[in-house]
Amino acid sequence: MTQQANSSLSVKIRIVLVNTSHPGNIGATARAMKNMGLSKLTLVQPKQFPSLDALNRAAGAIDILDYARVAYSLEEAVADCVWVAGTSARLRTIEWPIYEPRECVQQSLDFIDEGEVAIVFGRENSGLTNEELELCNALLHIPTNPEYSSLNVAAAVQVICYEYRLALVSDKARKSKGKKHRQDALARNEQLQGMHAHLKEALLSVDFFGTNNPDVIMRRLKGLFNRAATTQREVGIIRGICKAILEKK
Ligand code: SAH
Repeated sequence: MTQQANSSLSVKIRIVLVNTSHPGNIGATARAMKNMGLSKLTLVQPKQFPSLDALNRAAGAIDILDYARVAYSLEEAVADCVWVAGTSARLRTIEWPIYEPRECVQQSLDFIDEGEVAIVFGRENSGLTNEELELCNALLHIPTNPEYSSLNVAAAVQVICYEYRLALVSDKARKSKGKKHRQDALARNEQLQGMHAHLKEALLSVDFFGTNNPDVIMRRLKGLFNRAATTQREVGIIRGICKAILEKK
């Protein structure tokens, strides 16, 4: 493909690798990204980085590794994002929407005018934890052979980066849907997490959960806030309610 991808958009797309064990996979990820015109890589607690294996596998994509950001936690890695998808080799049961690659890319491009978006990839042996998936707005599953569903992590990155390439070169996915005209800014991931914690604290203080498991109820509420594409102003209102409840107690 000879066309240039839309580079002002591509810098707003973040690929996040969590706890990668094999540095070769970090290098292969950098190469997959550069081939497809993406450049922003964040590594959450990589087992080994920088590393010669990563450099070798990156071939000519060393600049991606040079500029890679290393984060202490997934929470920190996506704190400033307006939309985050977590990948999974298995179809999980949590209430998050599950997208295939093309729909996931289109969905993320719907939010990109309002901030950065991230796609998160898990550990080679165990993927992402449920807690990590709950930091995400949606799940992404590449429809592989159900009897052998798990791709190498860099191969999974390649599939997604290719979809971004197709979408950004044509810019069709975004234009066909038209922009969302939200009046208020979308909440950043860290604002949503702060709101969830505050809400749980307020609900616990009035014994709202009773015999129910608070985590199960909170997961449903998180799903609701994700679907609503919650804005910063709405976060402010919910937190105001929590504050009032806690003060009353
Ligand atoms: N045993 C792990 C597999 C991890 S594979 C598990 O069942 O979760 C390592 C990573 O590659 C995954 O965390 C995910 O980021 C990505 N990956 C592998 N296969 C995938 C698939 N079919 N769809 C989406 N992501 C996949």
